[in-house]
Amino acid sequence: MKRKIEKTEDQWKQELSPEQFHICIEKGTERPFTGKYHNSKEEGVYQCAACGNAVFDSNTKFESGTGWPSFYQPISGENVETEEDRTHGMRRTEVMCSSCGAHLGHVFNDGPRPTGLRYCINSAALKLDSKEK
Ligand SMILES: [Zn+2]
Repeated sequence: MKRKIEKTEDQWKQELSPEQFHICIEKGTERPFTGKYHNSKEEGVYQCAACGNAVFDSNTKFESGTGWPSFYQPISGENVETEEDRTHGMRRTEVMCSSCGAHLGHVFNDGPRPTGLRYCINSAALKLDSKEK
Protein backbone atom coordinates (compact mmCIF):
# COMPACT_ATOMS: atom_id res chain seq x y z
CA MET A 1 0.00 0.00 0.00
CA LYS A 2 1.20 3.47 -0.88
CA ARG A 3 1.73 5.81 2.03
CA LYS A 4 1.48 9.57 1.99
CA ILE A 5 4.80 9.88 3.73
CA GLU A 6 7.74 7.70 2.84
CA LYS A 7 11.04 8.25 4.57
CA THR A 8 14.12 6.16 5.02
CA GLU A 9 15.24 5.01 8.43
CA ASP A 10 18.08 7.51 8.28
CA GLN A 11 15.67 10.36 7.70
CA TRP A 12 13.50 9.26 10.62
CA LYS A 13 16.55 8.94 12.81
CA GLN A 14 17.36 12.57 12.20
CA GLU A 15 13.84 13.81 12.81
CA LEU A 16 12.77 11.76 15.82
CA SER A 17 14.12 11.52 19.32
CA PRO A 18 15.92 8.24 20.08
CA GLU A 19 12.90 7.08 22.09
CA GLN A 20 10.44 8.00 19.34
CA PHE A 21 12.61 6.25 16.79
CA HIS A 22 12.74 3.13 18.92
CA ILE A 23 8.95 2.99 19.30
CA CYS A 24 7.68 4.30 15.96
CA ILE A 25 10.23 2.76 13.60
CA GLU A 26 11.71 -0.16 15.51
CA LYS A 27 8.25 -1.02 16.92
CA GLY A 28 9.39 -0.84 20.50
CA THR A 29 7.23 -0.46 23.60
CA GLU A 30 7.84 2.07 26.32
CA ARG A 31 7.81 0.91 29.92
CA PRO A 32 4.34 1.29 31.48
CA PHE A 33 3.66 4.34 33.66
CA THR A 34 6.70 6.13 32.22
CA GLY A 35 5.08 7.91 29.28
CA LYS A 36 3.89 11.45 29.09
CA TYR A 37 0.22 10.77 28.43
CA HIS A 38 -0.89 7.66 30.33
CA ASN A 39 -2.42 9.83 33.07
CA SER A 40 -3.25 12.84 31.00
CA LYS A 41 -6.80 14.18 31.14
CA GLU A 42 -6.05 17.09 28.89
CA GLU A 43 -8.45 17.61 26.02
CA GLY A 44 -7.33 17.65 22.47
CA VAL A 45 -6.34 15.62 19.50
CA TYR A 46 -3.53 13.10 19.72
CA GLN A 47 -1.38 13.13 16.63
CA CYS A 48 1.16 10.67 15.34
CA ALA A 49 4.47 11.85 16.81
CA ALA A 50 6.26 11.08 13.56
CA CYS A 51 4.07 12.89 11.03
CA GLY A 52 1.29 14.82 12.80
CA ASN A 53 -1.58 12.73 11.41
CA ALA A 54 -4.58 12.97 13.81
CA VAL A 55 -5.02 9.48 15.26
CA PHE A 56 -6.98 9.65 18.54
CA ASP A 57 -9.27 12.13 20.31
CA SER A 58 -9.05 12.71 24.07
CA ASN A 59 -12.84 12.08 24.20
CA THR A 60 -12.21 8.40 23.54
CA LYS A 61 -9.37 8.05 26.05
CA PHE A 62 -10.12 6.00 29.15
CA GLU A 63 -8.39 4.90 32.32
CA SER A 64 -7.23 1.36 31.60
CA GLY A 65 -4.81 1.01 34.51
CA THR A 66 -2.23 -0.49 32.18
CA GLY A 67 0.19 2.44 32.30
CA TRP A 68 -0.22 3.28 28.64
CA PRO A 69 -2.59 5.78 27.08
CA SER A 70 -5.69 3.82 26.09
CA PHE A 71 -8.46 4.70 23.68
CA TYR A 72 -11.60 2.82 22.65
CA GLN A 73 -11.53 4.05 19.08
CA PRO A 74 -9.35 5.97 16.62
CA ILE A 75 -10.40 9.32 15.18
CA SER A 76 -11.11 7.55 11.92
CA GLY A 77 -10.51 4.06 10.67
CA GLU A 78 -8.68 5.63 7.78
CA ASN A 79 -6.11 7.32 9.97
CA VAL A 80 -4.79 4.13 11.52
CA GLU A 81 -3.97 0.72 10.12
CA THR A 82 -3.91 -2.59 11.88
CA GLU A 83 -1.96 -5.70 11.14
CA GLU A 84 -1.52 -9.04 12.82
CA ASP A 85 1.65 -9.18 14.91
CA ARG A 86 3.02 -12.57 15.91
CA THR A 87 6.27 -11.39 17.48
CA HIS A 88 7.26 -12.15 21.08
CA GLY A 89 5.32 -15.41 21.01
CA MET A 90 1.98 -13.60 21.17
CA ARG A 91 -0.79 -13.00 18.73
CA ARG A 92 -1.57 -9.34 18.84
CA THR A 93 -2.88 -6.71 16.50
CA GLU A 94 -0.48 -3.92 15.77
CA VAL A 95 -1.73 -0.36 15.30
CA MET A 96 0.10 1.90 12.88
CA CYS A 97 -0.31 5.41 11.55
CA SER A 98 -1.79 5.05 8.06
CA SER A 99 -0.04 8.13 6.80
CA CYS A 100 3.59 7.31 7.62
CA GLY A 101 3.46 3.72 8.86
CA ALA A 102 4.81 4.54 12.33
CA HIS A 103 4.14 1.91 14.98
CA LEU A 104 1.75 3.32 17.59
CA GLY A 105 0.86 0.35 19.78
CA HIS A 106 -1.57 -2.58 19.83
CA VAL A 107 -5.33 -3.05 19.95
CA PHE A 108 -7.03 -5.60 22.20
CA ASN A 109 -10.60 -6.87 22.52
CA ASP A 110 -11.08 -6.09 26.21
CA GLY A 111 -11.98 -2.42 26.00
CA PRO A 112 -15.07 -0.59 27.29
CA ARG A 113 -18.29 0.19 25.49
CA PRO A 114 -19.24 1.21 22.88
CA THR A 115 -16.55 -0.54 20.82
CA GLY A 116 -15.16 -3.12 23.24
CA LEU A 117 -11.73 -2.28 21.92
CA ARG A 118 -8.68 -1.10 23.80
CA TYR A 119 -6.11 0.74 21.74
CA CYS A 120 -3.01 0.54 23.90
CA ILE A 121 -0.73 3.24 22.56
CA ASN A 122 2.77 4.40 23.45
CA SER A 123 2.99 7.98 24.72
CA ALA A 124 6.17 8.44 22.73
CA ALA A 125 4.26 7.75 19.52
CA LEU A 126 1.76 10.53 20.30
CA LYS A 127 1.78 14.29 20.34
CA LEU A 128 -1.16 16.06 21.98
CA ASP A 129 -2.56 19.06 20.19
CA SER A 130 -4.45 20.68 23.08
CA LYS A 131 -7.82 22.27 22.56
CA GLU A 132 -8.12 25.96 23.20
CA LYS A 133 -9.95 26.54 26.42
ZN1 LIG B 1 2.40 9.09 11.17
